[in-house]
This record gives sequence, C-alpha cells and structure tokens, in this order.
Amino acid sequence: MIEPQEAWRRIAEQVTALEPVEMKLAELEGHVLAEEVVAEEDVPPFPASRVDGWAVLAEDDSTPRRVLPGAGTAGRVPVAQVSPGTAARVMTGAPLPAGADAVVMVEDSAEQEGWVRFSRPARPGDGVRPAGSDLAAGQVVLAAGTPLGPAEIGLLAAVGRTTVRVHPRPRVAIFSTGDELVEPGERPGPGQIRDSNRYALAAAVRRAGGEPLLLGIAPDDRAGQRALILHALEQADVLVTSGGVSMGSRDLIGPLLAELGTVHFDRVRQKPGKPFTFATVQAGFCFGLPGNPVSSLVAFELYVRPALRRMAGHRLLWRPEIEVCLRHPVTPDPVRVTFQRAVVEREGERQWVRTTGSQASSRLLSMAGADALLRLPAGPTLTAGTTVTAILINQPEDH
Ligand code: AMP
Ligand code: MG
Repeated sequence: MIEPQEAWRRIAEQVTALEPVEMKLAELEGHVLAEEVVAEEDVPPFPASRVDGWAVLAEDDSTPRRVLPGAGTAGRVPVAQVSPGTAARVMTGAPLPAGADAVVMVEDSAEQEGWVRFSRPARPGDGVRPAGSDLAAGQVVLAAGTPLGPAEIGLLAAVGRTTVRVHPRPRVAIFSTGDELVEPGERPGPGQIRDSNRYALAAAVRRAGGEPLLLGIAPDDRAGQRALILHALEQADVLVTSGGVSMGSRDLIGPLLAELGTVHFDRVRQKPGKPFTFATVQAGFCFGLPGNPVSSLVAFELYVRPALRRMAGHRLLWRPEIEVCLRHPVTPDPVRVTFQRAVVEREGERQWVRTTGSQASSRLLSMAGADALLRLPAGPTLTAGTTVTAILINQPEDH
C-alpha cells in the first residue's frame, strides 16, 4: 500500500501530454494550444473610426464645415479627401479618409443643409482606432500551453488562423465490471443492482476535458474482461474501469492488467478509494477504480482528472484548496487519509464546512451537491472548530 502522493508520482511518471494535432477553429473550444501564435499583420490593418461621426482635421477651427459628398462606411475604402473647412461623414469601423486625423461623434454635431457645426473641439486622434492598436504585427498573441476559450478563439480568427496545433482530448474507454450489474433502464432481479458508475464516470470524463467511450458492463469473467481491455485500448488512450479491484474471488481486473502490462500500484492509503489500480498496457493508461460509487468518483477526481488534464496539455492540474473550520466533529480513518464530502459556507471572514451526512462509500448522495472534499489526516476525531483543508471540487484548477 502506498501514500496518495506516491500514487500521483507514479502516475505523473507515465502520463504526458498527447501529441499535438492540427485542428479547425470551430472545434477548438476547451483544447490547449500547442504552439506560439504570432500576429502577422496589424489589427486593425488601417486607422479606423471608433464612432459614427465626422472625419476632420483636428487643428482646423473653421465653423461651420462643408459636408463632403458620400459617407465612409465599414468595409469601403473612402473616396473623400478631408481638407481644412470640410468634414466627411464616417461610420464605426470605416477607414479614416485621407487628410483627416480625428472623428467627431455625431452626438457632438449639428448638420444643416450641407454644413456641420461641432459643439466641442477635436484633438488629433480623437475617435480613431490607430492601425495595430489592438494587435501589432509581430506581437505574440497566445503562448503555447494556453487553454482556448471564447476570447482566445476570437483572437485566432482575428489574426487569420483557420487551424492551429492543439493537444487532442484524451479518448477514455469506460466499462463497469460486476455480475450483479444491470442497465439503468432495467429492473434489477434478485441480487442485482443498476450500473451507476459508468454514467457517472462518463460525465466526469467529459468535465475533465476527455472524450468518453462507453463500453458497457463486463461480467466477472476472465476471458470476457481480458478481451474488453484489449478492445478498449485499440480505440482509446485511457481505460477507466469500475469494480473488480479488491480482494474478492471475482476481482479480476488487477491480475488481468498485470498479465497484459505493468501495474504501478494497486492500493493507496486513503479512504475512500483504497483498492485502486494504475497500470500501463502497451501505450494505454489503465485506471482500475473501485466499484463503490463514491470511491470511484473520489479516486477519479484525485487522480484520473489531473492525469487527463495533463494529457490534454493543461499546466494547471489541481483544484484550489482553502482552510475551513469544521461546524461539527468528524472522524477520519485511524490509519488512512480520509476524503469526506462537504459543503463550504462563508460567514464573514471565516469559511465553515459541514459534511454531507453519512459518508458510506456506497452513498452517492454524499457526493451529490458537495462542493468540497475535506482532506483529513489519519487520526482521532477532530472537534468542531478545528481547521482542515478543503479541496474545492467545483472550482477550476488554479495550480
Ligand atoms: P467491487 O469493487 O466490484 O467489489 O464492488 C464494490 C461495491 O460496489 C459492491 O457493492 C458493488 O455491487 C458496487 N458496484 C460495483 N460496480 C458498480 C457500478 N457500476 N454501479 C454501482 N455499484 C457498483
Ligand atoms: Mg465486483
């Protein structure tokens, strides 16, 4: 049995970012950039009007000014030539007409029969968006390693990149093991239960930025599970299984992974999630999670999610952690680090926390609605008011 830190160390030793691929703009959301992107041209490429108004020469103080024919609109090269005593009508985004160096807002003007007066003087540059003022040619727009959200994707489009190199989403095959399992739509017979893990884990994979591939339920049968592991790794970068990793006579995943590849650990000194196998089989990473629904989700959160993020090229792997004050006593395991599901409550400066009721590892309700995992060192009961560490499992990773 190894400590949680050692478990992550062994995972991190194996798992690296997936080979970058060229991807189209419309598919980029949520991916991590694998190249540096530089602006090749100025944005905007020409001085443009920032407002609807009148292009003028700022130092010209004649009034009224003669309105030049036509109007400069966005997307049209202006024909007007502004000279002292004149003004050219321009719209937001239109190129600044030759001779002009400022734009007076239409709100600050009064036009009558071909002449316009201004209620305030213009200074050079007023109302003008200079060439290169948003992005200058040669400027680094986005660094490699940047996660791509709406603004970043907009920037790529603005500099004319229709494809960029990004790390792909890890493909994650998922199957549940257990003779007792039936599909959620079925009525369980004697001794049977519904498979909840496969759907919970698929959602967790998607949230972690992976692409889940659901492979069904595998009965506790050696040949069948062996074939399914190999089938899974033909199509996926990662295999996540639930159940079949503890000491029971029908727990076959551990021995099968050992036969097919290398097991890096199979027990972690923590609660829940003690039976938990990590193996590599060919180029694939296999996480054999425990069958109890809470155990599998907690182990996923603590180990599989950061591993998937690392494969997807993310540099921030860990959720924020804060110090919180216990509302009530809690009892950790005497010899294992314990992760209890909890809700954080802010009260003035202090953050309080209460757990989500019975912490049985079969009780999914203890995870539903929880926004934190309390990391409790092994030991005796902690009294109300004790400060403990909360991992904020609904907040984006910050380190
Ligand atoms: P195992 O790790 O296979 O020994 O399973 C531990 C416990 O979790 C048993 O009570 C199983 O019935 C239950 N369990 C295993 N797999 C699932 C699943 N996919 N969905 C819900 N419960 C499960
Ligand atoms: Mg089982």
